[in-house]
Formats: sequence, structure tokens, C-alpha cells
Amino acid sequence: MRTPLVAGNWKLNKTVAEARQLVTDMLPGLRAVNGVEKLLCPPYTALTTVAGLLEGSDVALGAQNLYWETEGAFTGEISAPMLAEFCQYVIIGHSERRAYFGETDETVNRKVKVALAHGLTPIVCVGETLEENEAGRAAEVVSRQVRDGLVDCSVITGNDLVIAYEPVWAIGTGRAATAEGANLLIRNVIRPTLVGLFGDEVTQRVRVQYGGSVKPDNAAEFFRQPEIDGALVGGASLKADAFVGIVEAAAS
Ligand code: PEP
Repeated sequence: MRTPLVAGNWKLNKTVAEARQLVTDMLPGLRAVNGVEKLLCPPYTALTTVAGLLEGSDVALGAQNLYWETEGAFTGEISAPMLAEFCQYVIIGHSERRAYFGETDETVNRKVKVALAHGLTPIVCVGETLEENEAGRAAEVVSRQVRDGLVDCSVITGNDLVIAYEPVWAIGTGRAATAEGANLLIRNVIRPTLVGLFGDEVTQRVRVQYGGSVKPDNAAEFFRQPEIDGALVGGASLKADAFVGIVEAAAS
């Protein structure tokens, strides 16, 4: 029903020259896969180059962050209208931004609103830390992140929003969540919270990705789960073969 979305979050990696090489290496493999939406999220500096390389393909482009003001004296920030010139998607509230750059549910909420207002589809990242997980607080934390991050946001169709469930303890650690556990949390926590905000019909169209140490050899297990609509991929998106392998797993 929902087309899976496999997104590569390149984080603080790749110069323009390196980005050009990586896209050139992976594009034929990505284009060969049907039935999966594919998305690359390079650093800001490589967006225009990657946009040029993706032109005419079915691979979408996204940014990793944005600022909630649209213009003005905010040195170093990038706005939604600036990104909307190139991008279809923007990642918001990644756990690294929450941990290292002081992002909160409130700043996530502001960013989601401005993204939606400028036609960018936000990929809103939620997920509990190891400490919260071990204290049995995953459901409480994730439902709060979804609710407070998305309250009063004008999500209209459900196609205009993506959630990435990324348990913090699984990101970049090589220790992925179990596919069944992620599926249950999405089914029992994320979807009901979305229903409370946007109603049943819209929620059915919202894609919920899993993120956290997804690799070609464990991807299929996640994609088999009924509530998991693709993946947000960090480390493995920096290698052409690995990322293409994950996209292929989503198609089969
Ligand atoms: C991420 O950065 O969102 C992520 C899931 O990273 P990794 O795939 O490296 O765990």
C-alpha cells in the first residue's frame, strides 16, 4: 500500500568531488530498482551537484536539516525556501542534532511547520536512548517526540510526512533493533499517536522508516515487517554497493 522510502543520510561526509563519485557509482544500480522510492541526503555543499546528477532520474534529493526562519540575520543557517529550490525532503530532529546541537521537540515542531509550508516533506526522526530503553520508557519517549514534534502541523494527505523510528542505541553502533521490536513500537506507539494528531486516513498514508545499523544483510528482515516502510540509512549509504543492496532488498 505504502511505497517504501529508502534514504541515505550522508551526515558530515563527502566533499563535492567525493559526492560526484559516489552518486556516479550508485546511480545505475538505484535506477534499476522499481517499486521503491530512493532518496539521497548529502551535506548542503553538495546539494546542487547531486541535484544535477539526479536530474531526469527517479532518485529524490533531501537535506539533513534546516532553520525555521525563512530569511534574515541568522548567520550560518539554511532556510526552507533555499532548500525547496533543489530538495523534495528534509530530515528533521535526527538524534545527533538532538544530542549535539540542542534540538528539542519544540525546535523540531518549528522546523516541521516551515518545511511543510514550503512544500518539503519532513522526515521526522524519533527514538529512545539506551538509558530510556533500559528503563522501559521507549513508548513514553517516542510518543512524546511524535506528539510534541508534530502538534499543530498542517499534515494534509499523509504523503507529506515521513517518520523515521531510530532507536539512538542502534545508530552507528552495528547493533540494530530487532525487526519485530521496531514493528511493534511503530504499530503500538507511533501510529496511534499519529492517529490522535491527524486521524486514521492520513495516518495510513504516513510512511514510517526504521533506522539504525541497517545493512544489506539485515535490511530484508526489516522490510518484511508490515509497519516498516523503508529505512533511513547512515553508514551504509556511503558505499554504493551497500546502499544499492538495501534498496534492492526493499523492492523484493
Ligand atoms: C542514521 O544516521 O540515521 C543512521 C541510522 O545511521 P546508521 O545507519 O549508520 O546506523
